[in-house]
Amino acid sequence: MLKTYRYSSLQAPDFERLLARNTDPSRNIEQLVTDILEDVKTNGDVALKKYAEKLDRVQLTQLYLTAEEIAALASTIGREQQRALEIAFANIYRFHETQLRKERAIETMPGVKCWREPRPIEKVGLYIPGGSAVLPSTLLMLGVPARIAGCKEIVVCSPPQADGKINGYIAYCLQLLKIDRIYLVGGAQAVAAMAYGTASVPRVDKIFGPGNQYVTKAKSLVQGLANVSIDMPAGPSEVLVIADGSANPEYVAADLLAQAEHGADSQAILVSTDPYLIDGVQTALKVQLAQLPRATVAEKALANSYAIVCGDLEEAIAFSNRYAPEHLILETDNWEPLLRKVSNAGSVFVGHLTPESAGDYASGTNHTLPTSGFARSYSGVSVDAFVKKITFQHITTDGLRNIGPTVEVLAELEGLQAHKNAVSLRLASIS
Ligand code: NAD
Repeated sequence: MLKTYRYSSLQAPDFERLLARNTDPSRNIEQLVTDILEDVKTNGDVALKKYAEKLDRVQLTQLYLTAEEIAALASTIGREQQRALEIAFANIYRFHETQLRKERAIETMPGVKCWREPRPIEKVGLYIPGGSAVLPSTLLMLGVPARIAGCKEIVVCSPPQADGKINGYIAYCLQLLKIDRIYLVGGAQAVAAMAYGTASVPRVDKIFGPGNQYVTKAKSLVQGLANVSIDMPAGPSEVLVIADGSANPEYVAADLLAQAEHGADSQAILVSTDPYLIDGVQTALKVQLAQLPRATVAEKALANSYAIVCGDLEEAIAFSNRYAPEHLILETDNWEPLLRKVSNAGSVFVGHLTPESAGDYASGTNHTLPTSGFARSYSGVSVDAFVKKITFQHITTDGLRNIGPTVEVLAELEGLQAHKNAVSLRLASIS
């Protein structure tokens, strides 16, 4: 079921092919998304309603739901589901609240004090995917750190469902987060609305959230076009599992399928030192796949996935670091020495009893993570992403005497006389 390669036989072009994902070689997606961005910028709400009809197949008279409508939807969900969302909310809150640390002021020279303080980004936009599956968990993953950071305005967009509303679980999460409005806008048009602003949807300073290729492309384009920043490219989901003979093939297969069921463009990669384990996983994949309601989607994703046989765990980690997976699962008894060798990954799940699903929903870590190799340079979403860190400094009389001459020399060597004067005038007045 998974195509299998031997690591030692891979040549440079094989690596290039195996490591690439979500490329848009003919730039079709880029063109389509550019047109949507332009349309929303020019036509605002009219364009948003048009795309809701065309892409989400629903006619909207109003582009948002109010607090009363949200409360009515939230009241439809069961107590067991409410409780699970509350536990996830509490664990995500507990893990993220420690991230807002106060830093110590540093005296770099006597009388020269420098420090940094976080300030919330005032207006943030959260995109909650809702195409092939509605993801209330993503609302918690973005809303909790936004609340902890203290963002003043939190704009939430999610595609309208067939009834022109959102599902009750999203509504319940909005209530947990004390957010009293949600905009019924999906895809690239939601990103455009939050980047440019429309009559209904407020413009924001930074856009967060995962999504399909249209959403991800729109986020990367608006950075340059609309003077808005983004969290990261968080596109179609992916997992890389490193497993040896100690792994349980059924657990490995379940983890691969948990990723594959996200979407046809998701990727699930198995890297193993044990060919027999790969055989066992292939068998388990067939059995488990047959029982999944989203089997058709998962099957397409598996066709786009593969397994690699490595000589040892060193080679497995070397491949993983080149792939830079969004999620990395280490299903080996020998995971401890591997941890320090992980250099590129969004989030790592360690040992046989730590499924990625735990982090996807409720253990506390964030599930909005960099994909398509961006884990080489981006971190997943955290409270840090919702704040700016502003530097401050204060210089006393002694401090100016200490630092002043150095600044004068440096200003002079750069030929910036006014910079030098700003120091010299003060030094003269305190001498
Ligand atoms: P989505 O909300 O991202 O996209 C749905 C929207 O896409 C629709 O409302 C529509 O407006 C637009 N769209 C659909 N077909 C289109 C077309 N042909 N042309 C233009 N626009 C079109 O929901 P989804 O599609 O289910 O995708 C969610 C994605 O998010 C999945 O790929 C999943 O793997 C990913 N994900 C990633 C992370 C992460 O942290 N990286 C986390 C969760 C989910």
